[in-house]
Amino acid sequence: MGYAIGRTMQPRIIPRKEHRVSRKQVSPNALRTLYRLRDQGFMAYLVGGCVRDLLLERTPKDFDIATDATPGEIKRLFRNCRLVGRRFRLAHLHFQDEILEVSTFRAAAPSVEEEDQEEDSPHGPPRHLKNDDGMVLRDNVFGTPEEDALRRDFTINALAYNIADFSVIDYTTGLVDLEERLLRTIGDPALRFTEDPVRMIRAVRFAASHDFVIEPAAWDTLCALSATISRASPARLYEEILKLFLKGSARRVLPLLEGSGLLEALFPDLFRWLQGNHRGRAMLLAGLEGLDEQVHRGSPLSPALFLAAVFGPMLEEAVLLRSRDGIPHLQALHEACALFLEGFCRVVTIPGRVGSQLRGILAAQPALHRMPPRRPAAVARRLEFPEALTYLRLKVETNQGDGKVLAWWDAFLSGGPTPVTAESPVDSAPAKRRKRKRKRRRRPNSPSGMPDVPVLQEIPEG
Ligand code: ATP
Ligand code: MG
Repeated sequence: MGYAIGRTMQPRIIPRKEHRVSRKQVSPNALRTLYRLRDQGFMAYLVGGCVRDLLLERTPKDFDIATDATPGEIKRLFRNCRLVGRRFRLAHLHFQDEILEVSTFRAAAPSVEEEDQEEDSPHGPPRHLKNDDGMVLRDNVFGTPEEDALRRDFTINALAYNIADFSVIDYTTGLVDLEERLLRTIGDPALRFTEDPVRMIRAVRFAASHDFVIEPAAWDTLCALSATISRASPARLYEEILKLFLKGSARRVLPLLEGSGLLEALFPDLFRWLQGNHRGRAMLLAGLEGLDEQVHRGSPLSPALFLAAVFGPMLEEAVLLRSRDGIPHLQALHEACALFLEGFCRVVTIPGRVGSQLRGILAAQPALHRMPPRRPAAVARRLEFPEALTYLRLKVETNQGDGKVLAWWDAFLSGGPTPVTAESPVDSAPAKRRKRKRKRRRRPNSPSGMPDVPVLQEIPEG
């Protein structure tokens, strides 16, 4: 297929009776917003992932709206509106249980010649801006619904649902690609992945989460350009990587990341660690399956837990090697985490708080594994305890952890009798805890420069 999609194609309009999108599946807040815009004389479409998911009979995660109302007009219409974004100015409508994104139809990035003219424009700074590598830096020009659809990433993400007549509009080949479960970029994949390298991660995400095949030309381009992912903003990469691993299809993501070269570009340490390391790979895959199960069960999953599940085995091995060299366990952990976070943050920003939580989860493990535990009630009250226990649970469920230890803690937390261990714990139930003033010990400065988190090993014995 050529890449002239949209420019020469007539949009395909599927009338209400001929598609599966029902208003019953749309959030009431989104419907009310669409009606209000329509009643005020504006165009109002549901756009992006929600239309795709409604057509696939999946529950959309969120409902995005596009309109020809400008951000200022949206703000005047809705009292619960906040305008956000510098790169893309858009409206957030705040409801009790959801935030809806309402954006004004935007135009596609201009061709190189148009862009040159715009750069020379005497009317102030350009509203589209690309850097020398062709990456889009600014893109804030209002456009038509069609232009708005064509600047989206994949054909299946460019479908619209028009509240005026309840039709579905396909400006590209989205409907056919949905049927064929094919993930196709809108236009030349090399151009689209260069404009925004994050789209490569998004391709992997949708292929994994929706069980789509990445169209061969797009896949080849993705493989060829995977190393350029490091040009994307580290903060955006962090957000997309969380979506990649925390949406219930992390297990399916790994082979795609490895096969495309994205794993090496994003996480070089993990990539090297996996080479020829069959046990490490099995542990990682098991950890990813564990993450997916948590998501499917509806259990909350934090970024720190994701980091622990994916990088925990590699880090624990690094700590063990350091400990064998005679470095005290806690110091070894600090060093290994600091080194890991330093390398990781060169490409992907991890907020300092999340890095500290990761360290807390790993640092808590020895205290959890000490059987019988010392002062278990105090251990259970520590900030990082719930996540540390979930990490242990993940390991046990994937045959990497000690089930007896987990059973002890589960019994302790449920208030039931704890399984018998060699000695009985000093305080085996929260009620029995004695009050005692603890002397704070100073910990050496964190090598990563991150704030220190309390670590469980340092709880004085009762
Ligand atoms: P999910 O259901 O996981 O939220 P989604 O398709 O809604 O998937 P979002 O990240 O919420 O994904 O983005 C909403 C829509 O915005 C996408 O469907 C796509 O049309 C558009 N979009 C998002 N990111 C990009 C991008 N980097 N380049 C072009 N279009 C994008
Ligand atoms: Mg979405």
